[in-house]
Amino acid sequence: MVHKLFIDGEWVESTSGKTFKSFNPATGKKLGEVQSGNKKDVDKAVKAACNAFDEWRLTPPPERGDVLLEVAGLLEENKQRLGELVTREMGKQISEGKGDVQEAIDIFKYMAGEGRRLLGHTTTSELENKFAMTVKRPVGPSGLITPWNFPIAIPAWKLSPALICGNSVVFKPASGTPLCAVELVKILEEAGVSSGVVNLVTGSGSNVGTPMVEHPDLKSISFTGSRKVGKLISRKAGLKNVGLELGGKNPIIVMDDANLDLAVEGAIWGGFGTTGQRCTAASRVIVHEDVEQEFMDKFVEETKKLSVGNGMECDIGPLINEDAVEKTEYYIQKGKEEGAELVIGGEKREGLFFDPTIFTNVEPNMAIAQEEIFGPVVSVLTASSLEEAIEIANGVDYGLSTSIYTENVSKAFNAIRDLDAGLTYVNSSTIGSEVHLPFGGVKKTGNGTREAGIEGVEEFTETKTVYVDYSGQLQKAQGID
Ligand code: NAP
Ligand code: MG
Repeated sequence: MVHKLFIDGEWVESTSGKTFKSFNPATGKKLGEVQSGNKKDVDKAVKAACNAFDEWRLTPPPERGDVLLEVAGLLEENKQRLGELVTREMGKQISEGKGDVQEAIDIFKYMAGEGRRLLGHTTTSELENKFAMTVKRPVGPSGLITPWNFPIAIPAWKLSPALICGNSVVFKPASGTPLCAVELVKILEEAGVSSGVVNLVTGSGSNVGTPMVEHPDLKSISFTGSRKVGKLISRKAGLKNVGLELGGKNPIIVMDDANLDLAVEGAIWGGFGTTGQRCTAASRVIVHEDVEQEFMDKFVEETKKLSVGNGMECDIGPLINEDAVEKTEYYIQKGKEEGAELVIGGEKREGLFFDPTIFTNVEPNMAIAQEEIFGPVVSVLTASSLEEAIEIANGVDYGLSTSIYTENVSKAFNAIRDLDAGLTYVNSSTIGSEVHLPFGGVKKTGNGTREAGIEGVEEFTETKTVYVDYSGQLQKAQGID
């Protein structure tokens, strides 16, 4: 079956007359086919979003919230089916596939409640008989561009705040996972989202993404993906509001007083969960020299127990595509050349599978300690103090997630204070965000926007300051007569 684009409440073919396929990375089998959208389709979708904007903007936010709650309910009913689709289309282990859908359920519920808040504030005035407050207004028709690694959750993280704030949207999903996007949009349609409020255009970054970014009538672009594309978007977007959630090189610090079994579990889950294809993946472990040997013995032993294969049955699913396999191989080669020691893994298997891989003797300046690999590769570095560990942790361009394992409250709080990142976990891995807390990074992980939590509405709203003078006189501020 060839799935269509969703524009102005109708499922339509692309004007390109072309389609592309989606494959299961575990089996290589074709899962379905979707439209190769182009600039003309984007123009139609933006027009529909602009036409629908006023009615949606003027719909009371609690009513918008009811629609979001309906979406959450439908996602819940379809969780098993969608979770399996996530696993089949992008490869992650099945309980993580269902977790992807759960994250979407959670954010739709959370943002539904935001319909009864969308708080501004009131404050004092320096003048008599004058009232001052702020209100939030929708930013306007918005473009959402998403990656394949959380094919339901990340779109939901953008759709739900965009919609609750009163925006209409054009949504372009990653070309690796278009079927998940189609199913999500079908659920929005079923929940009763009005025509033109949500438009789906599948297709490539250059044919659909670029025209969206350059479109004068889209007021904002919310992007999650690679740094390379993020930079391109911020150059092309002109004066639009742009939200960028880019990559990470996230460290786990293991101190000499840490519960090592717990730290090993965290390193396994953070490093190899989703086959390392998470922006928050723990791709570095910085371990105190006094416990390095013991930590490594346990880490390697536990890694050996992981099964690699189809995510429906195994712990570690496939990588998304050939490029990802090549990239992982490139970094393994690079790590060896630069003098790191490969202690386990490093081998590609038939298909898109890759053994969980650990390097030790990694120096902070090596490529495998600096660059995002997005595969199941963990680099272990050593430090002789908390200060040194934090210096190593901070010594990369990225600043998304960080973690410290320690039983010492003072060390924990020093790390919370000094780690340059958007997220710090204590005695827990680098992954596991909850939707009512903000998510995002510092440094080159993005441009400072936060998704989810109360902060999540900022990206999709503009703040208006309102003064109401009820004195009946011309009152001038700053004491001017
Ligand atoms: P990507 O290649 O940057 O693609 C992301 C999205 O951008 C896709 O929809 C892609 O379309 C589109 N795109 C590509 N070129 C474009 C262009 N010139 N203009 C506009 N859009 C364009 O990233 P990915 O490989 O899908 O995802 C992996 C990256 O995402 C990693 O770096 C990861 O760290 C990051 N990520 C970050 C977060 C976070 O919140 N910080 C979360 C998850 C992932 P096509 O698929 O059609 O190419
Ligand atoms: Mg890509």
